[in-house]
Amino acid sequence: MNEKDICRIVVEKLEKEHDLTDMAIKLWFDNLSLERLTPDTAYFSTDNDLKKSIIESKYIDFLKEDLKDILGFDVNVVIISSEGNSFDAQIKEMEKKKETEQLKEVAEKLEAEDQTVNNPDFVRVYDEEESKKMSSKIFVSRSLPNYSPEYTFDNFVVGRSNDIAYNMAYSVAERPATVANPLFLYGSPGLGKTHLLYAITREIATRHPEFTIIYVKGEDFTNELIEALANKTSIMFREKYRNADVLLLDDIQFIAGKEAIQEEFFHTYEALFESGKQIILTSDRLPKDIKSLAERLRSRFEHGIIVDIQPPDLELRVAIFKRKAQAFGMNIPNDVLMYLGENIKDNIRQIEGALKKMRALAYIQNADICMEHAKTAVNDILTAKAAAITPDKIITYVSQKTGIAPEEIVGKRKTNEIAMARQVSIYLLRELTDMSYENVGKVFNRDHSTVVSAVKKIKEMMDKDSSFEAQIDDMVKDMRSIGD
Ligand code: ADP
Ligand code: MG
Repeated sequence: MNEKDICRIVVEKLEKEHDLTDMAIKLWFDNLSLERLTPDTAYFSTDNDLKKSIIESKYIDFLKEDLKDILGFDVNVVIISSEGNSFDAQIKEMEKKKETEQLKEVAEKLEAEDQTVNNPDFVRVYDEEESKKMSSKIFVSRSLPNYSPEYTFDNFVVGRSNDIAYNMAYSVAERPATVANPLFLYGSPGLGKTHLLYAITREIATRHPEFTIIYVKGEDFTNELIEALANKTSIMFREKYRNADVLLLDDIQFIAGKEAIQEEFFHTYEALFESGKQIILTSDRLPKDIKSLAERLRSRFEHGIIVDIQPPDLELRVAIFKRKAQAFGMNIPNDVLMYLGENIKDNIRQIEGALKKMRALAYIQNADICMEHAKTAVNDILTAKAAAITPDKIITYVSQKTGIAPEEIVGKRKTNEIAMARQVSIYLLRELTDMSYENVGKVFNRDHSTVVSAVKKIKEMMDKDSSFEAQIDDMVKDMRSIGD
């Protein structure tokens, strides 16, 4: 019995056993053919989309039932219309979709395993309930990164671009409130600031079980305080923070521009500092470059030690990736590591996603990790990054910064402020996306030459005015971190 026979018998069965009328058979099943039969799926084709959708909505269960009678086992039924892409292309597309779903499943499964395998004491220490029972009190903000157990000094790979930061962090952990207070770490996203804060936390907790250590993200500090003010629990809030022996505030730039929050933080800061407690802060930029940071906070921060983390060079990237791979229990050939090092540059965080993807691919194919897997993973990162920065996001962002409505930015009016917001948006689009002058023009209903002159104008202004240049650079940075 070949595919043709099976198809004929199925259609006969539809007519006899499911009482389909002659008319229905003629209308919907005249050109049905069984193209491929695999152990789990029967692929039928028909000659137009309407037939396909009618069969799918009304008759697919009958088809399955009859096929089971004929074949003796269950199969899925897939209907393909030859009106669309070629049959093979459609099958490929479907298989790809299936593979993506499968990949997701595997990734989730592996992730779940990681959570259970890799969570020794650190996660437990951070559990609020547990930590109450321990002599060393550690409070943390709500949004903990996933792989916290691995954020130790041992797991931090040191190279030229981060060795000062590492050494300062280590000294502070060894001798809190003596070497550097406050310690201010800054650097672009994904270069290891949070990793170092966790390492410090862990190290101090081990050395001084009696200490109360508070790690909090700038964002969570803000939200917590807002809640406390709303619930009239600000005394408790204050109490909690002022009892710290060590306070680590991650991503301090998030409290900038918010008066009440900075005010409260200032008092906390003074209270801790005066009683000789260690304070450690991080940011994506220098204190002097955090716009709208209260002057008195800025001058406090500048009094301590400020250390930067620079992007790692190729050698360090490869070393870090190797360490990460080991932590994930993966064995990666050197040429593949080199390839990853050459292609994942600005943000170390991306390596984790890439490794997971590679691991899932290898798992599905039951193969060793190879270059192909790395290429797929890198490609995914690049597409995700490019897709993350869209004209919409840029315009919304410029609108927030300038107070000019998005409709005005893309609209016709030409007051100085509106024109400026428009030119800045155009500049950012050219700087941050791969869009051509033409396509950028379309976003603003302008032609190619308007885009060229807007970009030129902004560049000239940046050359002339260094504070304008700094503002634009900040905007570029902000937008880039959306893509990370
Ligand atoms: P940041 O807080 O600066 O944005 P993170 O500390 O979250 O960056 O680091 C992002 C990821 O990169 C983390 O998984 C971290 O462990 C890893 N990472 C960054 N630098 C290093 C390093 N030198 N050695 C090992 N891992 C690193
Ligand atoms: Mg961080």
